[in-house]
Amino acid sequence: MPANPQPPDRSRRAFLGGRSRPGPPPLRPPWTDEIRLSDACTRCQACVEACPEGILTKGEGGFPAVDFRKGSGECTFCGACADACPEPVFTDTTDAPWRLKITIDEGACLPHSGVHCETCRDACEPDAIRFAPRIGGPSTPSIDFERCTSCGACIGVCPSRAMRIAPAEATR
Ligand code: SF4
Ligand code: SF4
Repeated sequence: MPANPQPPDRSRRAFLGGRSRPGPPPLRPPWTDEIRLSDACTRCQACVEACPEGILTKGEGGFPAVDFRKGSGECTFCGACADACPEPVFTDTTDAPWRLKITIDEGACLPHSGVHCETCRDACEPDAIRFAPRIGGPSTPSIDFERCTSCGACIGVCPSRAMRIAPAEATR
């Protein structure tokens, strides 16, 4: 643990509104959220250092964030981040880890432009990506949300960055 972890930032306004630029909300580690982080996170980075997949980073303001383009590029839901945290930031790891939803940007997805690509399906262990045949072009992907765990494995491998992930409520 670093020598000088910072005290929890009790101001949710500062935590939620202190971002320097507009953009999608940061993805937080599993079993926590903005409110739990703002209430209890000391920004000690113990969770970031503990993640064996290397997908956790020191995000804006020093709070942990997920970056699926780093490390192995997927969450295995091992719980090491929650186990390493000395503060009451994480919920029980037997709870659902998070409510993230994968979407496919059809404008960026190669098969939608006539180029054969099934890289995301090859990376998806739960077999949650379906490719539907279509006349006059390569098969195009869709997500089976019954199977998708939002592990993120399809994001970093996509050569055209067509796979997106965001909090489920932001994608409605
Ligand atoms: S559950 Fe495991 S793989 Fe996922 S973010 Fe936490 S430490 Fe990393
Ligand atoms: S996020 Fe969903 S679709 Fe993507 S690899 Fe993981 S389980 Fe498969």
